[in-house]
Amino acid sequence: MAQLATIDEERLETLAASFSGVLLRPGGDGYEETRRVHNALVDKRPALIARCRGATDVADATAFARSEGLEVSVRGGGHSVSGKAVTDGGVMIDLSLMKGIHVDTAAQTLRAQGGVTWGELNRETALHGLATTGGVVSTTGIAGLTLGGGIGWLNGVHGLAVDNLLSVELVTAAGDVLTVTDESDPDLFWALRGGGGNFGVATWFEYQLHPLREVFGGLVAHPFDAARDVLSFFHDFSQELPDELWVVAALVHAPDGSGDQLAAFAVCHCGTPAQAEQDLGPLLEFGSPVLSQVGPMPYPVVNTLFDEAYPPGVLNYWKSSFLHELTDEAIDVLVERFAVTPSPLNAVAIENFHGAVCRVGVSDTAVPHRAPGYNLGLFAEWTQPAVTDENIAWTREVYAALEPHFSSLRYVNYLDADDVGDAVRAAYGPNYERLREIKRRVDPDNVFRLNTNIEPA
Ligand SMILES: Cc1cc2nc3c(=O)[nH]c(=O)nc-3n(C[C@H](O)[C@H](O)[C@H](O)COP(=O)(O)OP(=O)(O)OC[C@H]3O[C@@H](n4cnc5c(N)ncnc54)[C@H](O)[C@@H]3O)c2cc1C
Repeated sequence: MAQLATIDEERLETLAASFSGVLLRPGGDGYEETRRVHNALVDKRPALIARCRGATDVADATAFARSEGLEVSVRGGGHSVSGKAVTDGGVMIDLSLMKGIHVDTAAQTLRAQGGVTWGELNRETALHGLATTGGVVSTTGIAGLTLGGGIGWLNGVHGLAVDNLLSVELVTAAGDVLTVTDESDPDLFWALRGGGGNFGVATWFEYQLHPLREVFGGLVAHPFDAARDVLSFFHDFSQELPDELWVVAALVHAPDGSGDQLAAFAVCHCGTPAQAEQDLGPLLEFGSPVLSQVGPMPYPVVNTLFDEAYPPGVLNYWKSSFLHELTDEAIDVLVERFAVTPSPLNAVAIENFHGAVCRVGVSDTAVPHRAPGYNLGLFAEWTQPAVTDENIAWTREVYAALEPHFSSLRYVNYLDADDVGDAVRAAYGPNYERLREIKRRVDPDNVFRLNTNIEPA
């Protein structure tokens, strides 16, 4: 734990005099709850938490941190397992009170503030029969997820979350409040679509929406004995998927507490029910599932299917990378190692990249992940600190065993705190040097460095 910084009381009083939100210091009411994030492994103590209500609060809190020489962290939804939304000893700019959402039904666009979660956003859009690509889990924040790319149920048909982004209100390190669009500043808008929190604090996001009420979605689970066949079937089936269909294959544990392991599919089809039934036919007829619950449901419901599997406040350690091919050798490693995984909450998820995501060029946005294939996540979760080392060791070992099969890229939003150096380069790939140039223009002093950091050129 860092030593708590001494804060200049006079400057703090000046900040507090006009601050619309709430300022929390260690020991104060609400401080303990607010410093906590999704991953309970993160236990940092900011010297000040600035719970902002708008762009001016954000600008003032940033200026205060700079004047005090304190590190800045930015919290949107607080879901990053790396825990970089919190600073030890610095100023945490917390947007979780910023929940404004406005849908423009005529233009089919939406504006949402930086503290909104996908569940909250989907609730507003669903009222109008509209949706946009968001995360798989409803409790994830729109801010961090979007700035890093945004993988989700609608990837095949509408691309990543960034592919639907129209503008961002950004508070820069200098305290300027900019509305960044492709017209106002093409370079910065490019960088915001994949460059993470490196360029400032995003206070508002504007997205393109698409008509969507119901999807055909759900879960199909097979006994673990069939895991090799399930993953091999997934590989073949995912070679020719229509855009409307997104499939995740996963090795998981039964949610009934029995500890039974399963090989499962989660599916979401956003075409007509007839088309969905036809496209999903081979998957639904495959093997002898122990559970098959697939059918029409509102889009916000499919967005909650995994919520219980990722409860807040448990300990998390993640590793991930991309596979161009899900080879038999990689499948063997996954099945053998998952059979001995130490926590009944641990999961492996294999997310398919195809369709609209792959029709955007590698350097059209800052997200370089545009090739067909798979994003593989090793998601370790456990409840007891006593088994922390065992779970981290398991995750690292499986990752190391899979390394010969990985491509050179990594998804910035799934990196953990110890993914540094080459992992950072792998997250930005060929876009890294351009990002560094833009970082030098917008944040030359690297004020926003508590992220997957892009060093100013
Ligand atoms: C249970 C779970 C499910 C997930 N599912 C998906 C998924 O389906 N698809 C996917 O793509 N990712 C997914 N992720 C990863 C997710 O995208 C990242 O964790 C992302 O950082 C979450 O955003 P957040 O705002 O909640 O995070 P936070 O922890 O609040 O922020 C993470 C980082 O983003 C930056 N940041 C946050 N808000 C702002 C802002 N307003 N302005 C500037 N920078 C900001 C900061 O650098 C911060 O450190 C999931 C994570 C979890 C834990």
